[in-house]
Amino acid sequence: MTDPSVDVNDPRTSELSERLNAVHLRIADATVAAGRTTAPQLIVISKFHPAADVRRLASLGVTDVGENRDQEATEKSGLLGDLGLRWHFVGQLQSNKAKSVVRYAHAVHSVDRPQIAGALAKAVAVQIENSGRDPLKCFIQVNLDEHAQGHRGGALPADVASLADYLADLEGLELAGLMAVAPLGGEPRKAFEKLAAISASMTAVHTGAAGISAGMSQDLEAAIEFGATHLRIGSDILGSRPALG
Ligand SMILES: *Cc1c(COP(=O)(O)O)cnc(C)c1O
Repeated sequence: MTDPSVDVNDPRTSELSERLNAVHLRIADATVAAGRTTAPQLIVISKFHPAADVRRLASLGVTDVGENRDQEATEKSGLLGDLGLRWHFVGQLQSNKAKSVVRYAHAVHSVDRPQIAGALAKAVAVQIENSGRDPLKCFIQVNLDEHAQGHRGGALPADVASLADYLADLEGLELAGLMAVAPLGGEPRKAFEKLAAISASMTAVHTGAAGISAGMSQDLEAAIEFGATHLRIGSDILGSRPALG
């Protein structure tokens, strides 16, 4: 497919196009290898990269983008409001940011405690009353790191069922599924296998919540093998990020 709005003379656009194609190929190969018929949804994580890059990616067919910090997401979604992108919030969230996040977010992947779910529901309710909007899709983030609890955020596996029940009852929120980050230094296949098992027991109760948001640049193949429905890919498409200070 060619899009006439893609400027082939812009070197950054060509670079992004090549990297995006390479990731799409990996996704397609892993989907076939897993015996699956449909590829997961690609979400490009654009944190630390400028809005201009997201605009280039949209011209290359990207529809879903993610950010992990509210301020950056607010700025970029404001600059790119003409593109009709779906914005995913994937970072750790404080209750006092809920009002801001629901202004742009199509989905939040990092709900890990009842207070956050409650704050999001309250903020969405105001939007629904004022202007109408679709329910906010929420993924419960699961902490798969047995050794360093809370290290990368997320609810403990034992707390997922009660959080799912709580969230599913809140008006304005839609329980979409589970999200996890493979523990640092661990074996991603093991982590994603565990996530798939937690997902299976949750969907036995919440049949509509079959989403699995898993898989980053380094481990997307393992995530696809274990049923990921949403991939969150940053550096393999956009390049490396400056280290956090
Ligand atoms: C940054 C980030 C990603 C993307 O990671 P890459 O390794 O750059 O692909 C995915 N998920 C979350 C939660 C992130 O913060």
